[in-house]
Amino acid sequence: MKNTDLIKQWKSTTQNNYGVPSIALVKGKGIVVTDADGKQYLDFLGGIATSILGHAHPAIVKAVSKQIAQLSHVSNFYAHPNALTLAAKLVEMTGDKSARVFFCQSGAEANEAALKLSRRTGRNRIIAAQGAFHGRTMGALSLTGQPAKREPFLPLVKGVKHVAFGDIEAMRRAISRKTAMVILEPIMGEAGVIIPPVDYLSQVRELCDRYGVLLVIDAVQTGMGRTGDWFGYEYSGIKPDVITLAKGLGGGLPLGAMIALGKAASLFEAGDHGTTFGGNPVTTAAGLAAIAVIDKEKLIEKTVLHHEYLLTELAMVKGVKEVRGAGLLIGIELDTPTAKEFAAKMAKAGVLVNAANESTIRIAPALIVTQAQLVKFVSIFRKVISDGK
Ligand SMILES: *Cc1c(COP(=O)(O)O)cnc(C)c1O
Repeated sequence: MKNTDLIKQWKSTTQNNYGVPSIALVKGKGIVVTDADGKQYLDFLGGIATSILGHAHPAIVKAVSKQIAQLSHVSNFYAHPNALTLAAKLVEMTGDKSARVFFCQSGAEANEAALKLSRRTGRNRIIAAQGAFHGRTMGALSLTGQPAKREPFLPLVKGVKHVAFGDIEAMRRAISRKTAMVILEPIMGEAGVIIPPVDYLSQVRELCDRYGVLLVIDAVQTGMGRTGDWFGYEYSGIKPDVITLAKGLGGGLPLGAMIALGKAASLFEAGDHGTTFGGNPVTTAAGLAAIAVIDKEKLIEKTVLHHEYLLTELAMVKGVKEVRGAGLLIGIELDTPTAKEFAAKMAKAGVLVNAANESTIRIAPALIVTQAQLVKFVSIFRKVISDGK
């Protein structure tokens, strides 16, 4: 079956919630993917910051194959060593022995869990950022600060206030002793790779401490080493009360986590929350393999170097207004609001990227991307932008 056949099938069998794609992908190796017509692409989107080790990574293939041949599911009536080893690893990554992990499958679910956890403080008001993305289920959508995604589905969960991202005065005006939690992305990914002022997170931490409010860091997109550290907030020196993860956590498999630290770690009581597949042996095997490779190959350090290179090269390209982000989560703002058209032209030229907003191209390649692939990316980017002018 060719691309056109598969797209036709998409239209005749699936709902219209995503819009219709023009490419069907059928295989991948590293950061190269192949579509149904046999055309190859450099995958600089990585399944939206998800395929952290690229495609068909031997360590993931081995871990998953071994586990699925042995035991594929246990439910939460029983423990499994993979989930426990991964939980221990995540606790270690937070640098705080008090951290406790809840596993789920997606970012929305991790944030839903955080929202429910915050209710256990006895308070019910929440502050999130305008433009933030925290997922699409009703609770997560209530946290999401994008009117176009929210408005068709009102009424949502009550008591959520959205304040300007990076504006500490707005946070100061909104927060009170009635606030249960503040939720923030370290870098707003879906909004267009938006970075807050460098002292914003530490100032929010101070406010949360003063009013006894949980600070939830949504590291779903920034996490797993993508932004030059395990979660993306570490540069600020703060300690969150809750960290949510998904996307890269499962090395390409559906795995999410809500990690609570300190007092927040014991807010849930038995029976308060759950999900059937949480801590599944196969997805947690993939997560463990991903972390082991990131550690062993020092991919976080490499990510920082790759960032420097891309920033320097892309900032010089004519037609680029600004390049921002951290590690391998980068927003390239164009001079004109033509990001969608530009992304389509890049795909034609053999590179997958996406338009995070009307003028910003987002790239989030796998951490295993090579210097040669970065050079190739920059060269194609330059050619596509100069052809379009
Ligand atoms: C993608 C994303 C989510 C939602 O994750 P899903 O797995 O799609 O539910 C939540 N928060 C952030 C920051 C994200 O980037």
